[in-house]
Amino acid sequence: MVHRGSTFFAYTHNPKNLYFCAAIKRIRLNSQPIKIVTILGARPQFIKASVVSQALSQHNGIQEVIIHTGQHFDRNMSQLFFEEMRIPEPTYQLDIHGLPHGALTGRMMERIEEILMDERPDWVLVYGDTDSTLAGAVAAKKLHLSVAHVEAGLRSYNEAMPEEINRILTDRVSDLLFCPSETAVNQLRNEGRLSDGARIIMSGDVMKDAALRFAPLMKAPAAPLPDLYILCTFHRAENVDNPQVLKQLLTALEQTCDRRPVICPLHPHTRKSMEAIGYDVKTSPIQFIEPVGYLEMLYLLDHSTLVMTDSGGLQKEAYYMRRHCVTLRNETEWTELVDCGYNRVVGTEPANILEAVHYFLNQPPVFPFELYGDGHAAEVIAEAMSVDL
Ligand code: UDP
Repeated sequence: MVHRGSTFFAYTHNPKNLYFCAAIKRIRLNSQPIKIVTILGARPQFIKASVVSQALSQHNGIQEVIIHTGQHFDRNMSQLFFEEMRIPEPTYQLDIHGLPHGALTGRMMERIEEILMDERPDWVLVYGDTDSTLAGAVAAKKLHLSVAHVEAGLRSYNEAMPEEINRILTDRVSDLLFCPSETAVNQLRNEGRLSDGARIIMSGDVMKDAALRFAPLMKAPAAPLPDLYILCTFHRAENVDNPQVLKQLLTALEQTCDRRPVICPLHPHTRKSMEAIGYDVKTSPIQFIEPVGYLEMLYLLDHSTLVMTDSGGLQKEAYYMRRHCVTLRNETEWTELVDCGYNRVVGTEPANILEAVHYFLNQPPVFPFELYGDGHAAEVIAEAMSVDL
């Protein structure tokens, strides 16, 4: 581990004047820790942060301050993860949610900017591809602060996805880009649109660290589980915001229930969309349950026969827990899983979904290729952030 002096920001400003910040200048002092402000807001970010925050805490020379934007706010989408995974309590709770993308991102940026001006960190650390990620990265960059992005370089090449826009823009302003795969590294290099002096580091996937670390702690959910069930989640805007697509997907899942029971922890956004089309979860053959914590999710994965999802995280976790995956989208950022034959990307056409389900239920669970690092990505990230800027 490398110890170094902390950062001192010398500037004169009137806090009421938003334009003062362009003059931020850093002077290093010895013996103070490196300060990292971490921006979190959504469930997958809590899971990623659980392992990185722990690795950061093991460096004496690092102090982490967490901002929770409030993007996800239900107890079982947020607080439960902090408790179960022992993520340090956020210092700042912004409580910003339930707004359209522009308003959500704008309000987050406004509050994050104020906090960053007070905290004056050496690094601003952001994860993944949500509006919280983008708000944190842009607010920091405009204050001339150094930005580190975990899960950099992923691309779906579908700019209709809000996540794709968030990823591209966050990578563009980041100074340290932690990639989960060589594919992600190559995508960034091929684009050639990084900040001056930016560094790309192939860290591996922090979600692999999380799956390996927490699998021994998995616990059964309260809901009774049928034998040989398929675990399913879906919440992507392109699947649930369009009633036609949502109905088609629900038809495909109902038909899948003729083969195997389907259990589906229901994302709040999906629940709202299903209510809007008048879908009755109580009479559905699909077993809908409330969102579960990560330890229960690992149990559900471990006891499933197959995974069906439009979630990026779950596609990989299926593989980490040695389950095949049917991806309910038209493309994936995790192309290695498809190349290795672990995952099939099938969209939302019932015939294609049923064909893929049938195919995988007849495949032996053989996963010979090791992907996305060695389960020590968080340590690589902490080490890289502990050295001089
Ligand atoms: N997850 C969970 N409980 C649930 C559903 C999902 O803990 O009820 C976890 C899942 O295991 C994965 C992450 O949440 O680690 C995925 O989050 P989400 O699907 O919201 O985001 P995405 O991966 O699509 O960005």
